[in-house]
Amino acid sequence: MSMDTSLGRRLTRPVRIGRVVVGGGAPVVVQSMTNTDTEDAAGTAAQCAELSRAGSELVRVTVNTPAAAAAIAGICERLERAGVDAPLVGDFHYNGHRLLADYPECAERLAKYRINPGNVGHGEKHDERFARMIEIACKYGKAVRIGVNWGSLDPRLLARVMDGNARRARPLDAVGVMREAMVASALESAAKAEEIGLPGERIVLSCKVSGVQDLIAIYRELSRRSDYALHLGLTEAGMGSKGIVASTAAMAVLLQEGIGDTIRVSLTPEPGGARAREVVVAQEILQTMGLRAFAPMVTACPGCGRTTNSFFQELARAVQEHVRRRMPQWRAEYDGVENMSLAVMGCVVNGPGESKHANIGVSLPGSGEAPAAPVFEDGVKTVTLSGDNIAGEFIAIVERYVARTYERRITSTS
Ligand code: SF4
Repeated sequence: MSMDTSLGRRLTRPVRIGRVVVGGGAPVVVQSMTNTDTEDAAGTAAQCAELSRAGSELVRVTVNTPAAAAAIAGICERLERAGVDAPLVGDFHYNGHRLLADYPECAERLAKYRINPGNVGHGEKHDERFARMIEIACKYGKAVRIGVNWGSLDPRLLARVMDGNARRARPLDAVGVMREAMVASALESAAKAEEIGLPGERIVLSCKVSGVQDLIAIYRELSRRSDYALHLGLTEAGMGSKGIVASTAAMAVLLQEGIGDTIRVSLTPEPGGARAREVVVAQEILQTMGLRAFAPMVTACPGCGRTTNSFFQELARAVQEHVRRRMPQWRAEYDGVENMSLAVMGCVVNGPGESKHANIGVSLPGSGEAPAAPVFEDGVKTVTLSGDNIAGEFIAIVERYVARTYERRITSTS
């Protein structure tokens, strides 16, 4: 699939986080967060590796206790040994000023600190603790995400915004006040961080809310009033399709407007479900919008009364799973394979046409059609499959297509 370069990115300041660049016109970065107890270094490192291998380019862990801060070095060492190079981000609330000061190796090892300005104490304590964390970021040359969350807005700032609103000729309604308070919290905290000495090129902003319209309105305003790199994400998006739909609805509008430099899809995993699902969803949002390519996309028709059994759904799933499973190796071996498109169609109505538009497509026999499945490669019918092993034969065709179409990367043997 070709990338649509007509979607102009809003130019923000580039922020380097380890080897990853967020903003400044760089491709939108996918990130995620662990849900393990960070004190469990082995379990957390394993999940960081799982998320990174799924495609998370930054991985965030909570750093909530002294033992969690002490575990960061061990987590990093385990990741290094496993060959995982996704930069690690520490999420700090309430006691970040103490943990970063008391555990210098944690401060040094993390690539970025997430600071919630609503959770660093009140009044003078707030200013002092916030300043200490920013000074530590300056000392170690780290990036900071100033991550405002609507559930933990600084009450002092909220009161000030409400007072200002009461004096306006046309006061904002309650929703407008909340949105303005979030934007003000992010921008004022960033200005304060710059005053302390943190360059704007090390600041990422986020304002997390759980309402789609709130997120869109707040980020449009953030984007209008600053040029800091922006982290997009709907907080508490929820489980399953609800979480996916809400996140996509909100982020797609903003991404289409060129707003957003890094995204996280905050999905509540199904019981026993994979944490990495949120990474796949984030990639699929970016890929279906034509902003980035991560893995070949499988187009499948929805099926209808012409598909008499579940075979075509099973084939579509088998092909998608095969592609996901093979992608790490393909990515290492073949240049551009992530742009390949595949189609699995249920009958002759749209099957051959859609299959011809994909790099490789198969049109299965619908109800009453001859039991034959024509395969198209780059628009040309190359073979017709039949019998009991259509799935296996089609996947073998895909493998041969990849091997002969995409240029082999030169791998160093030294
Ligand atoms: S391609 Fe055929 S089976 Fe698939 S939705 Fe269209 S008519 Fe139905």
